[in-house]
Amino acid sequence: MAEISEEINEEKGGLNFVEQIVHDDLEAGKNGGRLNTRFPPEPNGYLHIGHAKAICMDFGIAEKFGGTCNLRFDDTNPTKEDVEYVDSIREDIHWLGFDWGDREYYASDYFPQLYDLAVRMIKEGKAYVDHQTSEQIAEQKGTPTQPGVNSPYRDRPVEENLDLFTRMNAGEFDEGTYVLRAKIDMASPNMHFRDPIMYRIIKYPHHRTGTTWKVYPMYDFAHGQSDYFEGVTHSICTLEFVPHRPLYEYFVKELADESYCPRQIEFNRLNLTYTVMSKRKLLQLVKEGLVAGWDDPRMPTISGMRRRGFTPASIKNFINMIGYTKVEALNSISLLEHAVREDLNKVATRVMAVINPVKVIITNYPEGQEEILEMENNPEDPAAGTHKMTFSREIYIERDDFMENPPKKFFRLAPDGEVRLKGGYIIKCTGCKKDADGNIEEIYCTYDPDTRSGLPGSMRKVKGTLHWVSAAHATDATARLYDRLFSVENPAEEKDKDFREMLNPESLKVVTGIKIEPFLAENAKVGGHFQFQRIGYFTLDPDSTQDNIIFNRTMQLKDTWEKLQKK
Ligand code: ATP
Ligand code: MG
Repeated sequence: MAEISEEINEEKGGLNFVEQIVHDDLEAGKNGGRLNTRFPPEPNGYLHIGHAKAICMDFGIAEKFGGTCNLRFDDTNPTKEDVEYVDSIREDIHWLGFDWGDREYYASDYFPQLYDLAVRMIKEGKAYVDHQTSEQIAEQKGTPTQPGVNSPYRDRPVEENLDLFTRMNAGEFDEGTYVLRAKIDMASPNMHFRDPIMYRIIKYPHHRTGTTWKVYPMYDFAHGQSDYFEGVTHSICTLEFVPHRPLYEYFVKELADESYCPRQIEFNRLNLTYTVMSKRKLLQLVKEGLVAGWDDPRMPTISGMRRRGFTPASIKNFINMIGYTKVEALNSISLLEHAVREDLNKVATRVMAVINPVKVIITNYPEGQEEILEMENNPEDPAAGTHKMTFSREIYIERDDFMENPPKKFFRLAPDGEVRLKGGYIIKCTGCKKDADGNIEEIYCTYDPDTRSGLPGSMRKVKGTLHWVSAAHATDATARLYDRLFSVENPAEEKDKDFREMLNPESLKVVTGIKIEPFLAENAKVGGHFQFQRIGYFTLDPDSTQDNIIFNRTMQLKDTWEKLQKK
């Protein structure tokens, strides 16, 4: 794997290399001047941020050049696929802001045409039914430097092949007993050309076609042809398909002519530090309950990131920053987190919430008195307006914001010291009360009545500003504090360790009894974004109820990992 790249990708002439190819093809009038891409997920899991990179390419390029993009479910393996995944994929693409209109297709739509093509190839002597085990077939495959060995069934007569293939699909044989193979070249330097398997027997019902089929096409025999049947002009995928390209072209040539032929183009995958991107591993985390589901906010899935409070804009900005190249890279999660902070800074509503509260009593503030303060919703966006927050004699502040014996340069609250309450008065600490174990129970302060915004003393400067909530008005809530899922940079690289051993034990901390201001309690909606001042960005979790308000921490305000690494 390549070095972690934190570079921002610079493109020449504003076009990345795929866009350049598309631009040139359109200019040359290829395929009648049409542009049609497709995004081809296999519905065997939820989409992750890597898929988002492919989606931004496939849909983005169609938008940019006035083409169309199909959504095609690559549903050729019924044993691993499910409608739950189909639904989640649709939802995630829409959430990212893309739409395929009525161009929703399924590879299974083409099973009849693919079957017909297979029959035609058998008749033309280009395919044969093999009757060996997968182990035998693998043994005969050879190595990149050593030619393979022909199957003893390679020269089976056409009639026999036709008969066996028909009976394979009629369900006469068990899984694994027969396969249909393309008769190409067992000595080809490209391993994918060594008589690749076109069809295998699967007796598990398909989520769309039920038990109609007992044979299912392999990816290589389905993908290019599906592109062709749909009229796809540019079939954009990731670099691991480079060695498959000759086979893609080989099968497509069975159908296409000069007037129209789909073309495969490959770009580098998105890989992220401190997570895994393999669907198999993600499924394992879900199945073993190591996370709360595919949309657990720690997952690199699109649904997880949505639940965590990431915005579509931040994901797209990140993908723009890393760009599309021909070189595999490991992308730094810090860059994604940076993109999330940058967008949330623009859109998140500023509110007050105290995560670890301690009570402060303002002894010279009249008992029973209240006043309404006007709070800015977002200093980055004057149009965001203000909201009201009540001040009273008893408030909560963050326990960490008080120290009885502070070190130098502690600019928060300490005996005889002054701080400003965000949006309110300057207060001065006069003492505190402790329990038998020495824990602070209450802090006592006086306020300076002249220092509220709009009053003459409002310009008086003190070093620290604290967030706070009025004790009588605050609502209790729960905060789920999320952090990176893995504690090592590249779990996929540690080959001799089980990836599950590298999970970050601190990736979720649940804090109950946080105190939030009423405006937040009343206005938090799933999908909304808030900045808890001085704490971080938060969003309401869908598990939240009237009686148990739950917030997910999207991100701390600063990159604390960066700090740790620099120590
Ligand atoms: P698998 O094939 O193992 O189930 P996959 O991640 O390749 O997993 P697909 O559903 O086949 O999943 O992927 C759909 C599309 O998304 C493909 O075109 C693939 O190239 C692209 N894609 C998948 N992972 C990434 C990634 N990490 N970065 C960029 N594109 C990706
Ligand atoms: Mg795939």
